[in-house]
Amino acid sequence: MTADADIFTDDFRAAPYWWDGTPRPELGPVQLPASIDVAVVGSGYTGLHAALQTARGGRSTLVLDAADAGWGCSTRNGGQISTSIKPDLATLARRHGMATARAIHAEGHAALAWIGDFIAEENIECDFDVVGHLHAAHNTTAFARLVAQAGSEPAGLETGVRVVPRDALRSELGTDAYCGGVVYPRHATLDPARYHQGLLERALAAGATVAPQTPVTAIARAAGGFRLSTPRGEIVARDVVIATNGYTGAPTPWQRRRIIPIGSYMIATEPLAPGLADELFPTGRTVTDTRRLVYYYRLSPDRRRVLFGGRVSAGETDPRLSAPLLLAELVRLFPRLRDIRVSHSWMGFVGYTFDTLAHVGRHDGMHYAMGYCGSGVATASYLGMRTGLKVLGHEDGRTGFDGLSFPTRPLYSGKPWFLAASVAYFRWRDRLNL
Ligand SMILES: Cc1cc2nc3c(=O)[nH]c(=O)nc-3n(C[C@H](O)[C@H](O)[C@H](O)COP(=O)(O)OP(=O)(O)OC[C@H]3O[C@@H](n4cnc5c(N)ncnc54)[C@H](O)[C@@H]3O)c2cc1C
Repeated sequence: MTADADIFTDDFRAAPYWWDGTPRPELGPVQLPASIDVAVVGSGYTGLHAALQTARGGRSTLVLDAADAGWGCSTRNGGQISTSIKPDLATLARRHGMATARAIHAEGHAALAWIGDFIAEENIECDFDVVGHLHAAHNTTAFARLVAQAGSEPAGLETGVRVVPRDALRSELGTDAYCGGVVYPRHATLDPARYHQGLLERALAAGATVAPQTPVTAIARAAGGFRLSTPRGEIVARDVVIATNGYTGAPTPWQRRRIIPIGSYMIATEPLAPGLADELFPTGRTVTDTRRLVYYYRLSPDRRRVLFGGRVSAGETDPRLSAPLLLAELVRLFPRLRDIRVSHSWMGFVGYTFDTLAHVGRHDGMHYAMGYCGSGVATASYLGMRTGLKVLGHEDGRTGFDGLSFPTRPLYSGKPWFLAASVAYFRWRDRLNL
């Protein structure tokens, strides 16, 4: 891959677009306590929602992050909010039985409804908007599948989905690249970094302490709970919550063997010519498509830029190199954007799992919630909240995900050596329009 300098604006930043409006917070040097009721490792949505519950429940709570608060996916994502469960009901029923399958899908619906209520109740200003979501078919076979799925939604788990045939698609999106699609009217959008900032402020106001630049390097059992080692000292915690998702590392080898870190990449364009955004995105919905290497995109909250994302590489971490690949795809879909330049490019590691399900539970006495498979705005928030309730011993902490085994594979230790081959294979299938 090579970077093409001409595609970048003069003020290009290799950082998330969201950080312009919401820079990483300055939390100052935080004195680490010698002991604490609850230590949360990771300060994204999962960690902060768990911390909000435990702090409001009266437990002294310390959130530790290896980098700045919210540095991970929680301030890098596309801000698309969905029901987030990847395997369909039939697939889950074959694996786990119908009752569990329904319970898992019900959690996806609950998470979508709950996050809107949470943001409203907490009065978090984060451009939350129920704009609906368009899932567009990249070929006729995929469209037929979407239509069949829309017509056979299980009772009690309806989404309000509506089919958009090819000849009506222009009323949704200014491209002829797709063969039709379906609209999920309840899906929403937000500014992920403003949401994270609001959440951070509420966790701090509830009494939680957030320690940035404090990597947890080891966790061991100790009298009274667990001893967490950091370069700044040791902390003994009665309870521990692991909330590291795609950045899960050596201190938690059991979780690391179960999480597949996969790069997800985004660009923001420079502001579009007046009127063009409305022509290309008349409904303002968020969009994904049916390809195996999925693309996801939307307008910025001010409706001036396109924010465009996808899995364009297996492990590239230089945003200047991933940007041209994303821009090429954007221009293929919307040829009118052929002269548009890129103002921001960034990436983050999402946490996939071998069964494409999120996992929440307890291992070796430590709580964890992770593995949102690229769709974690609602699910990470919701399962983080539930995990916090579990730490408090509340019945409400239980979820439909409880009791599932968290699969790994022989010889897998956290480095996905198979990823480059999988990405190449899926890209080949997508290019052949399979
Ligand atoms: C480019 C991109 C686009 C995305 N788009 C969407 C989208 O549109 N919709 C959607 O639903 N989801 C999306 N996602 C996924 C979503 O952002 C994540 O699922 C979600 O933010 C996960 O939150 P989290 O709190 O579990 O993890 P993160 O926010 O990733 O936080 C994990 C934190 O753990 C910290 N950490 C790791 N190890 C340690 C350690 N040893 N000690 C201390 N701290 C540690 C890291 O520094 C990091 O800050 C996207 C992700 C990316 C990267």
